[in-house]
Amino acid sequence: MTGAWRLDGVPALVAGGGAEALAEVVALRERGAVVTVLATELVPALEDLVDRGLVARGADVTEPELVASARLVVDARTPQLRAAGPDLLHLAREAGVPARTVDTGSGGGGTRGSGDGSVVLVGGGPGDPGLLTRQGYAELLAADVVVTDRLAPVGLLAELPGHVEVVDVAKIPRGRFTPQEEINAILVREARAGRRVVRFKGGDSFVFGRGYEEVEACRAAGVPVTVVPGVTSGVSVPELAGIPVTNRGTVQGFTVVSGHAAPEDPRSTVDWEALARTGTTIVVLMGVQTLPSIARTLLDAGRADQTPVACVMDGGLPSMRTVRTTLGALVSEGLPEGLVPPAVTVIGDVAALG
Ligand code: SAH
Repeated sequence: MTGAWRLDGVPALVAGGGAEALAEVVALRERGAVVTVLATELVPALEDLVDRGLVARGADVTEPELVASARLVVDARTPQLRAAGPDLLHLAREAGVPARTVDTGSGGGGTRGSGDGSVVLVGGGPGDPGLLTRQGYAELLAADVVVTDRLAPVGLLAELPGHVEVVDVAKIPRGRFTPQEEINAILVREARAGRRVVRFKGGDSFVFGRGYEEVEACRAAGVPVTVVPGVTSGVSVPELAGIPVTNRGTVQGFTVVSGHAAPEDPRSTVDWEALARTGTTIVVLMGVQTLPSIARTLLDAGRADQTPVACVMDGGLPSMRTVRTTLGALVSEGLPEGLVPPAVTVIGDVAALG
């Protein structure tokens, strides 16, 4: 993580709001750059980065001070927008700023694939590109089209050959999302067109990833489908914060649960009272807003007020941070300051470690 590869604090401009721009933006952020994106329309995952204040947004590529104040310019607009808009490379060159163009491929509905058509679900790990498996990376390189989620290591997509089409189907809590049926339909349609499809997901595809539904949709359509396991955030995100989910002598197991539905919500099928008594570490995914209610249920079931709780946000990303609290404080004071999704929450004695 040293040397010319790093761009710490370097202001970078990325023009374009599509999936290719997303990949560039994430890759630049991983290298430490301070990124401004220039586009009128953004794919959901890019919009989410802007909404969370992690990426700035400029309105117009012609704003001369935007180009002049950058130290790096990337033009990731579609060929159509590039043709209709100003010549960004020229503007950058005039301002003495290094600039390059990214191939935005066919921009949808692309070419017929060379093979028989197939789908592979690749678990991308928690977000750090280094935590994707070698097999997963090989699948990405061999793909005709990559259908990606927001929590996958999308920066890696900037390394793919120019002909690879990238489709962003990010699902953002309480934000824009692509319905699951539509994602299934995209996978089947692309594979039937003879293309090699990678479904790129965060963590592991079968851990709250709706991966099995996608496998079933492919099977029902007669499309060959395989799965490459990924490093799940349920274990790796705590670990990146230094927290072991088990620890010899203190805790002999862990339980990963979804906090999407609060304990009192009829949709919740988790027996929280039983969980409180298991003596294992509790790892909650998809549950920030519901944490106070989860804490109340665990306390009522006999867990101690002082039980440590650690919430690790953006694990494996440059913006990663951890906040710590206790079950008692979650109930009496509510959510800790600054706690926002995505986060993995660890409840139990190990949450005091790290
Ligand atoms: N299939 C994924 C989980 C999908 S559910 C996996 O195996 O990891 C999405 C939830 O995962 C988020 O709400 C959050 O709780 C967790 N998550 C995934 N990536 C994360 C990250 N980098 N940092 C923090 N939490 C993450």
